[in-house]
Amino acid sequence: MSENDAVLTHWIDGKTVAAAISRPGENPATGGAGVETGLGSAADVDLAVRAAAAAAPGWRRYASMERGRLLSAVADRLRADVDRLAELESADTGKPLELSAAEIRGSADYFEFYAGLVNLPTGDVLDIQPDLHVYTRREPFGVIGVITPWNLPINQAARACAPALAAGNTIVAKPAESTSRTTLELARIATEVGLPDGVLNVVLGRGSEVGTAIVEHPLVRKVAFTGSVRVGQEIGRIAADRVLPLTLELGGKSANIVFADADLEFAASEAVRAFVTNAGQVCSSGTRLLVERSVHDTFVEAVARVAAAVRPGENLGPMITRDQYETVQRYFKVAVEEGATPVIGGHVATVPGREGGFYVEPTVYTGVTNDMTVAREEVFGPVLAVIPFDTEDEAVAIANDSDFGLVGGVFTADISRAFRVAESIEAGQVYVNSWSTQSVQMPFGGHKLSGYGREKGIEALLHYSHVKSISVRLALGRV
Ligand code: NAP
Ligand code: MG
Repeated sequence: MSENDAVLTHWIDGKTVAAAISRPGENPATGGAGVETGLGSAADVDLAVRAAAAAAPGWRRYASMERGRLLSAVADRLRADVDRLAELESADTGKPLELSAAEIRGSADYFEFYAGLVNLPTGDVLDIQPDLHVYTRREPFGVIGVITPWNLPINQAARACAPALAAGNTIVAKPAESTSRTTLELARIATEVGLPDGVLNVVLGRGSEVGTAIVEHPLVRKVAFTGSVRVGQEIGRIAADRVLPLTLELGGKSANIVFADADLEFAASEAVRAFVTNAGQVCSSGTRLLVERSVHDTFVEAVARVAAAVRPGENLGPMITRDQYETVQRYFKVAVEEGATPVIGGHVATVPGREGGFYVEPTVYTGVTNDMTVAREEVFGPVLAVIPFDTEDEAVAIANDSDFGLVGGVFTADISRAFRVAESIEAGQVYVNSWSTQSVQMPFGGHKLSGYGREKGIEALLHYSHVKSISVRLALGRV
């Protein structure tokens, strides 16, 4: 798959395989044409899963250091190719180039981190009785299906693939149909640096067809899904019949809690970063801002001032799909109908020379109560809902009054309160006095509708392997 290919094709068993049909692409930055992408079928999935299943016994028998060396080589190649890959990612998503480059370096970090952890976690020896040698070991599942969304294409694929490969699994990945290119590049690079054919396969196509076929395939032993709650639930229903293990990384409606004693200037810039990064198309966006009432008005002013410097088409990319562009516009309408007041934004944005692009303004609503749609549903755009509170207990209660529970933030100068609140927030990751310490080492994942299982950290290795205990009866010698 080079950028010159007219139509993107699958990557199966170490080579390109053409799809029978394709769909035209759309460039979100201009509304013009994008890359044409093959659309696969259940037959393509079957081919890929069989290749992955055939490669699985060999891959799990690799000496772990050898496996690590190959993953490390993937990391090196991603870094060496960062400019080229960033251009491809930005062409498909409209993201500013620096953001794409950061996501690609983050993808390299995943491979580098897990390359160094191929020997972890180890098993135990259980001292049960003298004539039994009992031990545990972690084993790969076999073939893992990796289904990813369009907001952070290569980065989300790398997040799941790196630990899954490190743990000795093989993979059939399905990127979102509008942003498949860099996941294909990842698979090509993996093959080029020496991963055996069949270890990392990519099948292009629609979720309803290719995604479903992956989840249903009897040789797929686990699925890691990143995407919407609705699709996560659909996958869960199929998985229930198959008793198929899942990692589900779904949506969020995360709250930043700002107390009056916080460094308010810094908190304002973090609160803005929390909802405008990647134009709000991040599962862990901070999209509810809970502000202590005594500083509410001044803090909102500071937030609006910082947000005004975020300019569509300059440091703010477009909505990545036309669907998402339309979805955000519907939320603008509903927010106002339900009584929220836009302090800034609330409209689509026109970027000179890119009039057809899917841009929206960074948007901050006040007058929001936590039961309004804009406070309950994930908009997945640069839209912030500000809600005042009076007490610490009330702030925690509002933060936790959500169907989601992905991440959270607290800003305060009171160290005891910082810990109290951080530990009270129902979410898999919480940030104190900054927003989103994104690192490969920190386990990441949801409570409630935000999903289950964990990505990142050593925890991801536990989720991409299962434990076996073996007992060996020993003949005891005479003492
Ligand atoms: P989505 O519609 O759920 O799609 C995600 C992936 O699932 C795509 O590859 C999609 O394929 C595929 N898919 C669709 N229907 C399917 C089905 N019936 N069976 C199997 N696969 C299916 O999500 P999205 O709209 O692309 O992405 C936005 C969502 O992702 C947001 O809710 C966001 O919060 C969430 N997200 C979560 C995290 C996290 O780590 N928690 C990270 C990023 C994003 P096609 O679209 O190609 O058909
Ligand atoms: Mg979708």
